[in-house]
Amino acid sequence: MAAPLSATAGPEPDPDFAELVAARPHLSANAFDGLTVEEVPLARIAEAVGTPTWVYSAGALRRRARALRAALDGAGLRASIHYAVKANGNLAVLRVLAAEGLGADVVSEGELRAARAAGVPGSAIVFSGVGKTERELRLALAEDIFQINAESAEELEAVSALAASLGRTARVALRVNPDVDARTHAKITTGRSENKFGVPIADAPALYARMAALPGIEPVGVAVHIGSQITAGVSAFRAAYARLGELVRELRAAGLPLQRVDCGGGLGIPYRDEPAPLPEALAGAIRHGLGDLGLPVMLEPGRWIAGPAGVLLASVVVQKQGAARRFVVLDAAMNDLLRPAMYEAWHGILPVSPRALVAPCSPADVVGPVCETGDTFARGRALPALDPGALVALLDAGAYGAVMSSTYNMRPLAAEVLVDGARFAVVRDRQDHAALLAGMRVPHWLEDAP
Ligand SMILES: *Cc1c(COP(=O)(O)O)cnc(C)c1O
Repeated sequence: MAAPLSATAGPEPDPDFAELVAARPHLSANAFDGLTVEEVPLARIAEAVGTPTWVYSAGALRRRARALRAALDGAGLRASIHYAVKANGNLAVLRVLAAEGLGADVVSEGELRAARAAGVPGSAIVFSGVGKTERELRLALAEDIFQINAESAEELEAVSALAASLGRTARVALRVNPDVDARTHAKITTGRSENKFGVPIADAPALYARMAALPGIEPVGVAVHIGSQITAGVSAFRAAYARLGELVRELRAAGLPLQRVDCGGGLGIPYRDEPAPLPEALAGAIRHGLGDLGLPVMLEPGRWIAGPAGVLLASVVVQKQGAARRFVVLDAAMNDLLRPAMYEAWHGILPVSPRALVAPCSPADVVGPVCETGDTFARGRALPALDPGALVALLDAGAYGAVMSSTYNMRPLAAEVLVDGARFAVVRDRQDHAALLAGMRVPHWLEDAP
């Protein structure tokens, strides 16, 4: 494959096509089939399903779940993994991960129902989130889930009152805010004292004691989650887990019962070629802060499991030469993949056809058709000429991709496909236009108006 020259303003050249493929074991490229996920050429999926389409690799999901488990085992930790459904809640994805023995971390009734529908037992489900409604808590109690992570004194009282009135016992962990800076994007930092999440760690001992006294509640431990896409080493994890370890010792000294510690999610992935901590380093940080407590730990990874396992497959609508730059306009847009517009995220973009993968490259802005300048996937990216109909894959779109999509500009939600070895299946139908209009209606007094 050609080695396109860098065309970004950044100091380091972008990784070339070969480097992007080599860093993603479920991708390959060859002179007959072009870009391929596991054993299925993306061109075949586009032909069968159309574009834009999300394509997930079951093999990558399994491999990543196993690698994480191996890292935790290797550090001698007794750990359970609860996949964060909000990263990618497709039922087929959840099914693959449930079959790997992963539980689920959910933040809404919809996610709880999705996890159950995919075969995750209630006994492996954790409910997180800063604003659980009474209706959601009722469902969690009815499903007798593994753990509810309470985020405030008010919520503790509400869970207690509800559980007691239903004659149930809620297993509750207290989510504490350790006030550490995860050094990630401000929109996904959650462990600073100014963030809305958890209770201040200084208040935790009193609240935990209160929990032990409340009816309908079994206090099972403490939880943290300091942010997402954490790539700046594991120092933030180490700091958070060290503080959590101190808290556990303090609670124990006060005679309070703990059964486990929830370490949250947040492990980042390299979208470009930035150094990102390996799961072994995360496991080391957990062991360092919590290893000598003799308690099982829980992990809630989302992005690390699902992010690299998916691509967004799109077609070129038009290639347009502007006054100062070349624009490649795709049929995918910010309503599909929001991350570039929302977080200034960098996503690798690969052509799919064998010829385009080795053609000479020049800088192009890759954009969607939505009426916003923010609808830009990449600026000055080295890409070959891409005629209308040419296919491209936006990489690492398996997490916070389809789940964050909208129908902005009245664009139907894209289809989702799961690849497993040489097989593939549509795991979510493309939304049709009738479905977009369904449920909207014009009130009768307007219908009659001239
Ligand atoms: C979002 C979230 C996660 C998952 O975060 P990732 O960065 O995707 O690993 C885990 N736990 C909680 C409480 C979350 O809000």
